[in-house]
Amino acid sequence: MRANPYLSKAEYRLLDLGITEPNSIDVEAIAWDEGVKVQYSDLIGCEARLVGFGDRGIVTIRNGSDERRMRFSLAHELGHWNYHRGRSFACRVDDLVDGYSTKPTEEREADGYAAELLMPSYMFKPLARAIKRPTFEGVQDLADQFRTSLTATAIRLVDINAWPLLLVCHSAQGRVWFNRSKDIPERWFPQKELDSDSIAFDRLFGNKDRIRAQKINADAWFDCREAGRFEIVEDSIRISSSQVLTLLWMENDEMLEEEG
Ligand SMILES: [Zn+2]
Repeated sequence: MRANPYLSKAEYRLLDLGITEPNSIDVEAIAWDEGVKVQYSDLIGCEARLVGFGDRGIVTIRNGSDERRMRFSLAHELGHWNYHRGRSFACRVDDLVDGYSTKPTEEREADGYAAELLMPSYMFKPLARAIKRPTFEGVQDLADQFRTSLTATAIRLVDINAWPLLLVCHSAQGRVWFNRSKDIPERWFPQKELDSDSIAFDRLFGNKDRIRAQKINADAWFDCREAGRFEIVEDSIRISSSQVLTLLWMENDEMLEEEG
């Protein structure tokens, strides 16, 4: 197959193997094809490990964690195998969430490879555009199709720019990380502290039942002067005992215009 400049290394690999459906992405088979042996055992201190000897590698995945997480771990180690050959790694996969913007380059590259291998743009983009609305219900639907975690899928949805979205993670101490689609201008920078009008605030501090995604004034999330003129759609979920993840959908095209 001819190299396509629009495809990443992982996506090119999948197309080369003739894989066109999410349920055909067999990460263990891909590993085997690349000379990587996969084993499962009781690892201590890390969730996945890669040991390489020349063109042979052994990936060890910690037994017993969630199936989607183990799959992501394996794809992450294949990222190291493809990008950082000749080195060994011991990885904690929850770093994907905890240190999204601060983790070392090699770890971000391996996460990127994993996201592209498990949710290749040529499959993910059309399915992402087909969801009814970009809320966590839609994200869950995609996560079930691709057998990926809700957080990894939400990050992919934002990165792939199928909808104008911001994804923000907060703990009680404030914003932990955020990410935005390419179509969203940089002036939309989410506040550090959660506003008490936001759904995320209720999720983090209240004990309210699930509120469905709803419209909210943009000034609950942004402190620029024009924010008060707009409404956005907010959906927020708890992803751990201490963190909430929020999707903000900018439905109004005026918000996407560059200031001029
Ligand atoms: Zn790693």
